Amino acid sequence: MTGALSDLLNNKPLAKEHLVQLLGITNQEEHEALLHHGLNTKAASVGRIVYLRGLIELTNKCAKNCFYCGIRAGNDTIERYFLSDEDVLQAAEFAYKNQFGSLVIQTGELSGPIFAAQIERLLKLIHRHTNNELTITLSCGEQSQEVYQRWKEAGASRYLLRIEASNRKLYEFIHPADGNHDYDTRIKGLEDLKKCGYQVGTGVMIGLPGQTLEDLADDLLFFFKMDIDMVGMGPYLEHADTPMFDQRNLLLPASERFLLSLRMIALLRIMMPYINIAASTALETINPLGRQMGILAGANVVMPNLTPVTDRKKYLLYNNKPNLDKDASLSTATLNDVLSSIGETIGYGRAGDSIHFSHRQA
Ligand code: SF4
Repeated sequence: MTGALSDLLNNKPLAKEHLVQLLGITNQEEHEALLHHGLNTKAASVGRIVYLRGLIELTNKCAKNCFYCGIRAGNDTIERYFLSDEDVLQAAEFAYKNQFGSLVIQTGELSGPIFAAQIERLLKLIHRHTNNELTITLSCGEQSQEVYQRWKEAGASRYLLRIEASNRKLYEFIHPADGNHDYDTRIKGLEDLKKCGYQVGTGVMIGLPGQTLEDLADDLLFFFKMDIDMVGMGPYLEHADTPMFDQRNLLLPASERFLLSLRMIALLRIMMPYINIAASTALETINPLGRQMGILAGANVVMPNLTPVTDRKKYLLYNNKPNLDKDASLSTATLNDVLSSIGETIGYGRAGDSIHFSHRQA
């Protein structure tokens, strides 16, 4: 057993060099011991309850051009959409009736007064329509502090703004230097969100071209230092219509990106026992059992997709996204069975707020 793993299992504090060793585990027994420790830590902190967040991909319109993303502004091969109020309310109603407890509204990154007002109006509309019983997470990119505040007052309680890579150089490598993608602005966004009183989430891609185990260890330390309340992270997956597709030869095999992602989840759970961690759809893209394996490594949130099936196919951040045709009620029933079979309970009707956030507030 590596020294770092035995230190970890004996609850000794983890330094960066230990994280690097643990992320680099190649022995299957050690890999499983690490994941098991992640699961035990979860059971002892947030419990074996999985919270549902109904995902509404409101629009695939985006003003930005991240090199890795399938809905980047420069990709003119996709049809752009913006859901109607009716579609949004139908999805919200599904979440409400099925006791999801929470919704996530995700968009490409748009800005300006019209977009700010659209989101504000939708937040109020959803709350009115669902008796104020659903908590809402926004994932709508970088905005001004004023807009974050406005949306908070309109009823959003959580905000997800992924850093994607906490190493500045790597961040700059995966984003164009066009004045619209600035590392410091992203960090300021996370700080502004905290000031506005949100439960703040971020996340990274795992297995990017040129990314090292040291970078990933730094990502974990970044979440810790930023005192983040929620994390959504998963393997980097390529999209053929993006500039980064050209570097696919530099990637680890998908199966290794997958295992590395599970170790990231387990280590993060051990480092930050009370945060919320999502089991990403990207895990399921590589392995059909990926979502439950993420849960068994320490994740406690899943986000069933409630976007109307016809538009879901137009919101492809990467290729081969799963469940594009699956009706939401079918996915929910399957999820219920799958999670029960691995000893987890779904937190029906519960908001599933980040306990870390309530500690932070106290
Ligand atoms: S990652 Fe987000 S901001 Fe970047 S291109 Fe994709 S949707 Fe737009």
